This record gives sequence, C-alpha cells and structure tokens, in this order.
Amino acid sequence: MNIVLLGPPGAGKGTQGERLAEECGIPKYATGDMLREAVRADTRLGHEAAAYMKKGELVPDEVVFGLIREALATPAAQNGFILDGFPRNVSQAKGLAGLLEAQGTALNAVVYFNVPEEELVRRLSRRRVCAQCGKDFNVEADAPGSDCVCNECGGEIKTRDDDRPETVRMRLKVYREQTAPLLDWYEANDVPVRKLDALGSVDDVYGRLKSLVDCR
Ligand code: AMP
Repeated sequence: MNIVLLGPPGAGKGTQGERLAEECGIPKYATGDMLREAVRADTRLGHEAAAYMKKGELVPDEVVFGLIREALATPAAQNGFILDGFPRNVSQAKGLAGLLEAQGTALNAVVYFNVPEEELVRRLSRRRVCAQCGKDFNVEADAPGSDCVCNECGGEIKTRDDDRPETVRMRLKVYREQTAPLLDWYEANDVPVRKLDALGSVDDVYGRLKSLVDCR
C-alpha cells in the first residue's frame, strides 16, 4: 500500500506512522526527519533547509522533492510506503502523482489526521527531541527524566527550535494556507481522503487508524 499521512504539525503522524510502518513491513519517509538529519549532519542541503525550518516556513519544493524521489526509487519502497509530512502543498502533490505514474503505481490511501488547533498547540509545547539521534519525547507521557538525557543514545533532550510558540503559530498558518487545501485537491483527483479522529491515547488512535487502512 502507498499511503500519505496528511495533517497539521503535532497531529501524531510521526508516532502513528512509525507503528503502522512496522506492522505493515513497509518504510516510512518523513521529509521533516530527513531535513533535520541533513541539518545535524551539516550538509549543504541541511544548511539551505535550516533557514526555512527555523522560521516555520516550507523548504523549497525542489529540495524536498529530490529527497522523496530518491527514497521512492529504493528497493525498500517497491512494496509500499508511508509518507509523513509530504506532500505539503498542491505542487508537491502533483509532483508525487507524476512520479508514481512514471513508476506505474499510485496512491492507495490518504489519511487525514483531524485534531483541533488548541490541542496541537498543547501537544507541540510538550514535545521534546534528542539533539543527537532525533528521537521524540513527550514531557508528560515519557517523563524523559531530570537528567534530560536520551534513553537511546545519551544525547541531550531539547525543545525543537520550531516548536517554540512563535514558530508554531507560523507552521499552523502555513498548514492552513498551503497544506489543508490538499484535502479538496485529493478528493477532486479521485484519491479518497480517510478522516481519522486523532484525539485520544496513542493506542486508541492507532486502533482507529488500523480500521481505516488495511496494509495486507
Ligand atoms: P515536520 O517535522 O514535518 O513538522 O517538518 C518540520 C519542517 O521541515 C517544516 O516546518 C518545514 O520547514 C520542513 N518540511 C518538512 N516537510 C516539508 C515539505 N514536504 N515541504 C517543505 N518543507 C518541509
């Protein structure tokens, strides 16, 4: 199955997508993770992307599209994949459709993670990340500990730069203006959007997600 997870920042696409990818035995590609990895590795691409990410703006289409094109060409992606955080606007969605068509395939499902904006702001204010390996934490659920050290790699746990309130406001604005229109765009292009109530515990949301997406 070729699946796109669509929804605002903080909706839980990363957490749920990780679990779904594992259960379905297909890779998950998150452009945000790929870009943060490039920033950490201090590559030229990372350098270019960092300026946009810091402000909560979208990185230019050709940069993220290059990452996705490369990922979808790998053998791992040939039996299905999950995309998280891509596409983010209509131009990226058109690029993805063209790429898949050229490979003789198409999207099977778009899942929209529905979460009210005040809950997104609350979740993002509680999110922390390991500066070294990128693992996500939540100050309430994971209680990362008074020493603030990642339990996987020992790296320092910090607030993501773009989870600061002023940047969160910009990211939500960008989502409303550029990404939300994709819901109508997909419907108009005959890719049904499955709406997921993404409020509640991780297990509850995952149960609902599984009832929308059958990866067998
Ligand atoms: P995320 O982890 O998906 O919230 O992404 C973090 C940041 O990475 C976004 O605010 C953008 O600056 C950038 N980014 C991630 N995915 C994309 C994309 N598909 N197009 C453009 N920018 C992106």
